[in-house]
Amino acid sequence: MELWYTEQHTPDVRFSINIEQQLCCKKSEFQRIDVFYSKEFGRFLALDGLMMVTEKDEFIYHEMITHVPMAVNPDIKQVLVIGAGDGGTVRELTRYASIERIDMVEIDKMVVEVCREFIPQTACRLDDERVHIYYEDGLRFVRDKVDAYDLIIVDSTDPFGPGEGLFTKEFYGNCYKALKEDGILVNQQETPYYTAYANSMRRAHQRIRAFFPICRAYQFHLPTYPSGHWLFGFASKRYDPVTDLYAERWNALGLETRYYNTELHKGAFALPNYVKELLEDE
Ligand code: SAM
Repeated sequence: MELWYTEQHTPDVRFSINIEQQLCCKKSEFQRIDVFYSKEFGRFLALDGLMMVTEKDEFIYHEMITHVPMAVNPDIKQVLVIGAGDGGTVRELTRYASIERIDMVEIDKMVVEVCREFIPQTACRLDDERVHIYYEDGLRFVRDKVDAYDLIIVDSTDPFGPGEGLFTKEFYGNCYKALKEDGILVNQQETPYYTAYANSMRRAHQRIRAFFPICRAYQFHLPTYPSGHWLFGFASKRYDPVTDLYAERWNALGLETRYYNTELHKGAFALPNYVKELLEDE
């Protein structure tokens, strides 16, 4: 008998994966947490019925959310990661000896516990001595921080449920305050392809641009996300992500990556015309 995992990407579009077995099915106070095993994508985590991370393609997402800002400012030492319960973003950050502290603020402790047990591939570096995990709402955590971080990465779920507050003007304004004078904010910014997601992307971009002098978006391909075409936001108080790229310094680190490289870094910010129009001022 065949077993299929199906998620709804729009009211008229579904995405299905043939699965071998379900490894975990839990409900926290915030969301439903499932882990499945599939031949094509390996183990994968789904929250409230939406795929978050798969063993096969997580490297794309986690390399692009970390190495882009790290290649713009190689002197980043204090990092705040909001969400990121699977641990993949933290795993990539711990590869930099130059980083002194990583605060990870994940609202749902159960997500971390499930990923430690079932997806060690991403959760393998959460015990690094520089990592400090806070199980609370990122919106609240950032409220009283001032001039504290060089980099804030918002690796959240979509703008509904627990993640909703991480797409608000209040949150982005507090991130601006929490960042140092040359701070960088990178945030999960949805897809431009499907209308509902594109509207969230536009709103997030406009709200961030209200605070940051430099506010751009960059793209990558993630097969298991709606449409496969996904964006991250890049906002900064000082650095342009392309003209201030420190390619030689990053390449000299000799970090092995399977998706990110400093050529692709520049190309990722060259957006299709329809995406540029979506991001332009209303
Ligand atoms: N998108 C990532 C990926 O593809 O690898 C995975 C993201 S991670 C699983 C998203 C996390 O954000 C979830 O664990 C969720 O519990 C957390 N989250 C959602 N809202 C939050 C909030 N307000 N504060 C902190 N964490 C939050």
